[in-house]
Amino acid sequence: MKFCTTRTPKKAAFSPMEVIIKGMAPDGGLFMPESIPVLSQTELNDFIKLPYPKLAAEILHKYFDCFSMAELTADAEAAYGFENFPTVPLDLCVVEPRLFMLELWHGPTCAFKDMALQMMPRMLSRALSKQRKKRLALVAAATSGDTGKAAMEGFRDVPGTKIKVYYPHNGVSPIQRLQMATQAGENVSVSAIRGNFDDAQSAVKEMFARKDVQKMLARGNAFLTSANSINFARLAPQIVYYVYAYVRMLRSHAITMGETVDVVVPSGNFGNVLSAYFAKRMGVPFGRLIVASNKNRVLADFFRTGVYDCNRAFYHTTSPSMDILRSSNLERLLYLVAGPERTARWMKDLAQTGRFCVSADVLSRLQAEFCGIWVDEPEVADTIRRTFREDGYLIDTHTAVGVAAFRQYSERPQASRRILVASTASPFKFPRDVLTAILGDAPQDDFEAAQTLAAISGRPIPRALRDLRERPVRFTNVVDREEMADDLADYLRD
Ligand SMILES: *Cc1c(COP(=O)(O)O)cnc(C)c1O
Repeated sequence: MKFCTTRTPKKAAFSPMEVIIKGMAPDGGLFMPESIPVLSQTELNDFIKLPYPKLAAEILHKYFDCFSMAELTADAEAAYGFENFPTVPLDLCVVEPRLFMLELWHGPTCAFKDMALQMMPRMLSRALSKQRKKRLALVAAATSGDTGKAAMEGFRDVPGTKIKVYYPHNGVSPIQRLQMATQAGENVSVSAIRGNFDDAQSAVKEMFARKDVQKMLARGNAFLTSANSINFARLAPQIVYYVYAYVRMLRSHAITMGETVDVVVPSGNFGNVLSAYFAKRMGVPFGRLIVASNKNRVLADFFRTGVYDCNRAFYHTTSPSMDILRSSNLERLLYLVAGPERTARWMKDLAQTGRFCVSADVLSRLQAEFCGIWVDEPEVADTIRRTFREDGYLIDTHTAVGVAAFRQYSERPQASRRILVASTASPFKFPRDVLTAILGDAPQDDFEAAQTLAAISGRPIPRALRDLRERPVRFTNVVDREEMADDLADYLRD
């Protein structure tokens, strides 16, 4: 497979190795495969028999043919094995006759990001070792809460790499902060930055272009790469679980081959829902993709009006991993429907004015496949309570945005018979908000709240969260945006 970029008219000049290693395209855009491989119904049928790691290797090999099937299988078996996923890699739960929950949070950090971030570092490390020039990969990641922890856990002690994570000071939940501050590993570091996620993300993107940063890296025989979903190697492992979900529904006879399933994805940076779109383009019979937003409803507004406008208030919600106004991966969708010239123009508008507006023909093409629904905070809480009381099923605040969107969408005549909702985090990761939604009140302390939640639901607290309180805090650094490059230089030097 060759790769091109979202902003330069096709010259598919990049190899999969470059895509993994560089993370971000040299023109400031994002890497994209030159074409999307299509699965036949026979292949989909054959997938019914495969264990998850084998399926992962099959799908990833279509994009990353720089690795052999044996190499990808070995990496996937290690990534999704017992060590990281003590119960199952992922699960599909039928909560109501139409509502299928794809639980993606059985990994080490209890959020869906583990699905990609346990796999991607192994692929990067493999790519690095295949290269002749030995250089250190310095992974920089901005996080709205979950990526940072999952990335550090994925890169922890991976040879040839060091990782630096930036999260918004006061912008993540106490458990998320503690998860990052106590991270183990010799090659990890985390700093809080004064600002929100968008500030952190744009500062990380800028570092890639800064001359002084490049010089400092050259001195350290290092190069900068990204673990955010701007890296295509982050997105590709996410396609796998959507293929898997459809195949599992086939296997359990919930659907017949070819039957359309709609998919709801609680969205922030647009990476997860874009992966579902890739699965659809690869031939999985998905119908509409429902982009579920919280009160930061910039995506929902965009799919309704064709105007993407970041000039608006930013809200801290109970679903902090979705508190995002600049959804990086939307650029990839724009590229797919409108091509690189128009995408480059819109991205320039966005950088200069904080907004862009697509034409009516582009909007109608987007609306044929996507639908944006946003959910306000009281409805999130109400959905958690109702789903627990009526279905006996516990969901977290992010997933609740998806389930609320499901409730709105499933009323519509065009909705399909079965609807898949991505469940993106364990309810125990946000125990106080979940408990407050159910009981009207919660203890101040997250760990006490988690215990109460376990007691009322009869579900165990995930191991990774249970241990958190005993771990020593290693990182307490807070920096301004302007200090990030120096902070990175300090870290590279140790
Ligand atoms: C990251 C995250 C999201 C948003 O996913 P995107 O790929 O950024 O759209 C939703 N829920 C949880 C729990 C997350 O960690």
